[in-house]
Amino acid sequence: MSMKRLALRPNAVAPLLCAVTDEPRWASLKWLTARGQAQELLHQRAAELARERFGQRVFLRAVVEVSNFCRENCAYCGMRRDNQDLARFRAHHDQLAELLIEHVPSRVTDINIQTGEDPVAVRELVLPLIRTLRRETSLGISVCLGTLSPGLYDQLQEAGASIYIMKFELAQSATYEEMEAPGELDERLEHIRLLAGKGWYVSSGFIAGLPGQTPAQLLANFGLATQLPLVGCSVSPFIPGESTPLADAPTGDIEQTLNCMAILRLMSPHWVIPAVSALNLAGPGSGYRRGLGTGANLVTINLTPSKIRGDYLLYKRDRFIMTEERILSSLQAQGLVPSTQSLAEHYRLQALEGQTTPMLQSEAEVAIR
Ligand code: SF4
Repeated sequence: MSMKRLALRPNAVAPLLCAVTDEPRWASLKWLTARGQAQELLHQRAAELARERFGQRVFLRAVVEVSNFCRENCAYCGMRRDNQDLARFRAHHDQLAELLIEHVPSRVTDINIQTGEDPVAVRELVLPLIRTLRRETSLGISVCLGTLSPGLYDQLQEAGASIYIMKFELAQSATYEEMEAPGELDERLEHIRLLAGKGWYVSSGFIAGLPGQTPAQLLANFGLATQLPLVGCSVSPFIPGESTPLADAPTGDIEQTLNCMAILRLMSPHWVIPAVSALNLAGPGSGYRRGLGTGANLVTINLTPSKIRGDYLLYKRDRFIMTEERILSSLQAQGLVPSTQSLAEHYRLQALEGQTTPMLQSEAEVAIR
């Protein structure tokens, strides 16, 4: 698709979008399936909203994947407990501490510590690592560790983490169960609310293009996201994972995923919306860059030590690793720059301004007019 900017006044965009969608609602089938000029306008307006809100700044964090043990069995994930083909690992505190204190690229402002759902790793590795990072660095600290006990959430927060990533993955209980997503949907949502109630900044996310997912099921994710106390949300295209029951299913459609990202931005201009690395797999060559063109404002460099990275099997062993070089050139291609403010500090200031709750749909509709 041509990335040439359409020469339209902002006020002209909403009527045009309405004209091509026949309705002013953001979460509609026609926006989801928009192609050609309608899609270009959708993405352009979403990118404009992000720039109005955040300027050219994009948050730059690094992720370390520290354990691939998982007690859950999600049908879409290679780290599911039934996968016997996977060598399981837990990284070592000292190895990670040295990496994160001495070798983090200078533009990185935040670290995301990620594991399978592995409370042992949380207690024995993640907690000490967060304490070390809090003592030795000023990096913002996010965690993505699955559903844990309230006591463990408190310990993580006391240690110095402030952002919790807990994706709800799918908005309907029946399909959530069918996909063997973690625990039960209601429980997952309760934990998101619990975390927000404890003062965590919570980001969530869902998967687009799961096998058998209907447009109505996909659209339901937007409604759910707006009802939750979130500061951000991601959309990940479904990638058929190696050694999973869905290994032979088709990859999620990149166009649909990009439209979902744009709709999220239109719905919540103030949210932090990441460009996920799976965009590279769903749209080889251009998916990631185009994701940045839908108003995404968070990118992630993978710092997991290369020795263990291959066994962090979210999708495939042949992973597309987002290095600093790849990230910076993608940003440059879109005229974007790394933020010097950390994500953690951004959320703290946003909370002080009372802007952490998601917009209601009616407000979102006003925002895109
Ligand atoms: S998606 Fe997360 S919880 Fe589910 S199997 Fe993979 S690592 Fe475990």
